Amino acid sequence: MSRKPLIVGNWKMNNLLAETGALCKGIVDGLGHAGKAEAAVCPPFTALAAARAVIENSPLGLGAQDCHAAEKGAHTGDIAAAMLKDAGCRYVILGHSERRTDHNESDADVAAKVSTAWSAGLTAIVCVGETETERNTGETNDVVERQVSNSIPAGGADPDTLVVAYEPVWAIGTGRTPSVEDAAAVHRHIRAALRARFGDALADSVRILYGGSMKPDNASAFLADPDIDGGLIGGASLKAADFLAIVDAAGAD
Ligand code: PEP
Repeated sequence: MSRKPLIVGNWKMNNLLAETGALCKGIVDGLGHAGKAEAAVCPPFTALAAARAVIENSPLGLGAQDCHAAEKGAHTGDIAAAMLKDAGCRYVILGHSERRTDHNESDADVAAKVSTAWSAGLTAIVCVGETETERNTGETNDVVERQVSNSIPAGGADPDTLVVAYEPVWAIGTGRTPSVEDAAAVHRHIRAALRARFGDALADSVRILYGGSMKPDNASAFLADPDIDGGLIGGASLKAADFLAIVDAAGAD
């Protein structure tokens, strides 16, 4: 089963408008992988329009980093999934460990957001991953299985609207990574959990990205593994050359 690799840049709380335009232009100008891999960037909400202006009509996709679970209403400071769709987004990252930690988001909160994202026509990139303590106590598979079960709603998952990102919390922004073999084993476990819950068709086609200190110098090794379908990239997505090198590694034969 071949799955088109997907590389997504998570800019987090970085980049003002001028930087957004320049970074998007640098990426769009350098995208030379001839459609073998798909790429998208997820700027902060304030920069979505500036990013859209540069990347519209290019192969680079647009995404956001969160949405509210409600369709609309009295939620000061929050952003609805339909607003993201309206702003040109195709993707929304949900359940990132920084949101789970900083905003106490539970699996149920994430599942509610995923449902709303799907209703708005967005593809949800659902993040799962263990802490260092959980890894050291041998709980990695249980943790990701629980997160996959409880953060992805029962109905409505399909390969076009669901992407899973395996992001070991201890690898995010630290420069540390699991071995490719260890990461791939967790990907296989996630795929098995998806198979048990949603069946073969979804499990075989849904993309499972690796995230956590993926850089140009380690991307090829991760992306060459058949169980790793792309990357969710934080720090290295803030430099066009680094992001493009990872996209190229994903599109390599
Ligand atoms: C992330 O936060 O999604 C991430 C993978 O960050 P980094 O690449 O900086 O580890």
